[in-house]
Amino acid sequence: ASKRSGKGQLSFYDESMNDLSRRKLFLEQELRRALQNHELQVHYQPILEAGTNRVKSFEALVRWYHKSEGWIGPDEFIPVAETTGLIHQVGSFVLNECFATLASWKDGGAEAIRMSINISVKQLQGNALPHLIKDRLAYYRLLPQEIELEVTESVIMENFEKVCFTLDLLRDLGVYLSIDDFGTGYSSMSTLNRLPFHTIKIDRSFIADVFYDKKSRAILRSMIQLSNEMNLTTIAEGVESEEQYRILKEEGVHEVQGYYFTKPVPANEIEAVWLTGNLSEPLRLHHRF
Ligand code: C2E
Ligand code: MG
Ligand code: MG
Ligand code: MG
Repeated sequence: ASKRSGKGQLSFYDESMNDLSRRKLFLEQELRRALQNHELQVHYQPILEAGTNRVKSFEALVRWYHKSEGWIGPDEFIPVAETTGLIHQVGSFVLNECFATLASWKDGGAEAIRMSINISVKQLQGNALPHLIKDRLAYYRLLPQEIELEVTESVIMENFEKVCFTLDLLRDLGVYLSIDDFGTGYSSMSTLNRLPFHTIKIDRSFIADVFYDKKSRAILRSMIQLSNEMNLTTIAEGVESEEQYRILKEEGVHEVQGYYFTKPVPANEIEAVWLTGNLSEPLRLHHRF
């Protein structure tokens, strides 16, 4: 039986719970507190044009530094946020934070830069997100084409009918839409065709062994070919080595992102390097912030 603490809250120390549900409950309680105390942050990872290494966009990645636990990764707390409904608060925090960052970079002289934001499928039901985005675009004076929303392929396919309507509303707003972790979600050509996407982000599992494995390279090639025929932009995620980058260029991928170039970093570390007006300069390889 669940015990209740003084204020009617479910107690965290319940003997009947296993370690996993105890951890989830702990994360839920702590995340609620973290949202109120502004403990979440957003880091940014540049996405570069293959070949020229020019910065095309930044992916916003949420971060949580917990005072006793240290860094808690989004892979762990986003699922908790999704099952508890906290994802809406996390999502609007991230949106505000990265819109404000982009607006200030534009004030600092940055041109033709896009911000790419991960969206949970839970945010794609109903029209709350299109409203929020429209409102925030006006507030920060950003153009819709300066924003790209990333949605994971597998969850789109599982919720296809529910999310189509919202995706169409977002597309009508003029923001860009990309399929994240492409290749892991079994989309068919016909479903791809029905969805209003601009960009395909090839999952890093396909990039990881492309240098050693001929089959991976063949899969990569066919994904790029399919995207090209559908007039989509291709981004390779998780590029970690020179060899991988060389192959990706040979195969004609449009944009690249990964530790080989830069890790996600706080906005001020990007500003320290670029806000002197040279944001449009090609990024040096192995750039260390
Ligand atoms: P994702 O959208 O596929 O983001 C890319 C992940 O790969 C990030 O992990 C990034 O730090 C990591 N990464 C980048 N380059 C490399 C590389 O060269 N090698 C390797 N091994 N990894 C690389 P992160 O930040 O831990 O995020 C994990 C996932 O959590 C994201 O996967 C995304 O689905 C989700 N997420 C992150 N931020 C948000 C957010 O604000 N909202 C929502 N709904 N989900 C988010
Ligand atoms: Mg992403
Ligand atoms: Mg994602
Ligand atoms: Mg991804």
